[in-house]
Amino acid sequence: MNTGAFAASLAGAQRAAFAADLDVVVIGAGAAGIAAARELKAAGRQVLVVEARDRLGGRAFTDASLGPAYDAGAMFIHWAERNPWVKIAADLGIDTPSEPWGGGFRVFADGRPMPDADRTKRRAVFGQIDRRLETVDIGKRDLSVAELLGDLGPEMAPVAASGLLLSIGEESDRISARDYQRLWAGDDLVVPSGYGNLVARHGEGLDIRLGEPVSAIRWDGPGVEITTPSGTLRARACIVTVPVGVLKAGSIRFTPELPSATRDALDGIGMGALTKIALRVEGDRFGLGPGMSYLEAGSPKAMMNLDLFPDDKDLVIATCGGDHARELSLAGADEARAHVTDLLAKMVGESVRKAVTGVSFPAWWTDPFSRGSYSVCLPGSEAARDRLAEPIGGRIWFAGEATAGGGAMTVGGATLAGRAAAAAVARLKV
Ligand SMILES: Cc1cc2nc3c(=O)[nH]c(=O)nc-3n(C[C@H](O)[C@H](O)[C@H](O)COP(=O)(O)OP(=O)(O)OC[C@H]3O[C@@H](n4cnc5c(N)ncnc54)[C@H](O)[C@@H]3O)c2cc1C
Repeated sequence: MNTGAFAASLAGAQRAAFAADLDVVVIGAGAAGIAAARELKAAGRQVLVVEARDRLGGRAFTDASLGPAYDAGAMFIHWAERNPWVKIAADLGIDTPSEPWGGGFRVFADGRPMPDADRTKRRAVFGQIDRRLETVDIGKRDLSVAELLGDLGPEMAPVAASGLLLSIGEESDRISARDYQRLWAGDDLVVPSGYGNLVARHGEGLDIRLGEPVSAIRWDGPGVEITTPSGTLRARACIVTVPVGVLKAGSIRFTPELPSATRDALDGIGMGALTKIALRVEGDRFGLGPGMSYLEAGSPKAMMNLDLFPDDKDLVIATCGGDHARELSLAGADEARAHVTDLLAKMVGESVRKAVTGVSFPAWWTDPFSRGSYSVCLPGSEAARDRLAEPIGGRIWFAGEATAGGGAMTVGGATLAGRAAAAAVARLKV
């Protein structure tokens, strides 16, 4: 079937005759889904959210499984100057201070302090991505960030790009320079009581069904029919906020299949693999004050940041990204624990092994309901986010961090994208 023609032919009269159970079904109760549902509820629409997990918040998740809680997904309220979460938190009476840096920072190579000469070489290539974005013409043709850095040579280009593993979560040859340039910047705030907790709290009062993974969406009738384990939901329209990784994995079957423009957009967006591995470390603090960061940078590809006892908690939180994070995700929690413990033992001493009493590893890359950390436009596909946001047949809207333009990859962007989709759906006749 020519889905484009089908979409265009959707007749208003046909829609008016459709006996839907609901005005709108929102799929996914992360930041985007919650924002969309709140907006629709405020507009007087009958809206139901269906969520695959047994909790709200999606990739904003405050994990308390080790005792002391930490944000296993989103932690920073980025570009706070225009981020809606500053106001949402303030309205709820939740504190959002600036990140309390200052615990100290040291750089290591294979667990040993990095020699000064190597640190100096590293410092010389810091900031090279931004510098090139000011001088290299990406107006005519999009480049990968790796191409942008190519003239630094095979030794230093990976070093210059390695910071991206901890910010974008992806290898530099899979990142569009234009998309990267488009991302918003600004101040970062944190939520000491948990960003994930905050997002979940924002969902209170909504009609949300947990433990309901959607497996199919039918949109060849006048509305949408959504298949969940507990039955089929009929609605005028749906807002799909599941991560791009889930869509690309084919976890939701669309009938008819999605228009080619949407499929092309999905082909142009990948998922990064930013990952945190949290260890519970009890007893000895190895002479370290709270809030220190140790950066393992011996191999650019296996770069890993360790936050040691953040906020004085009995935790060490290791963060890595790209293919290294994918390998650890596939290897599983025991391997990840062993990897971080071995590294720590080299950094602070063998006795740390006895102090490690637990691991928590929500591996986003292998998680069936995220399939990666956040969306990354592939080189040459910088228009994909906007294409994905285009409504389909007047009844399916994709929304989430991937459709958030300059706010992509963030909770704030997901929220704005969810609100925008909801505003468009609220304009539909019911
Ligand atoms: C390690 C890590 C660190 C991060 N750090 C930050 C940060 O500091 N600041 C920041 O702003 N952002 C950060 N992010 C990104 C941020 O978490 C996401 O951009 C944001 O939470 C995405 O929101 P969303 O609503 O688009 O998607 P999600 O939060 O993923 O919500 C989608 C929901 O859909 C559900 N779902 C999936 N499949 C189905 C299905 N078949 N049926 C029904 N429901 C389904 C999922 O379970 C999920 O709840 C980080 C992410 C990770 C992984």
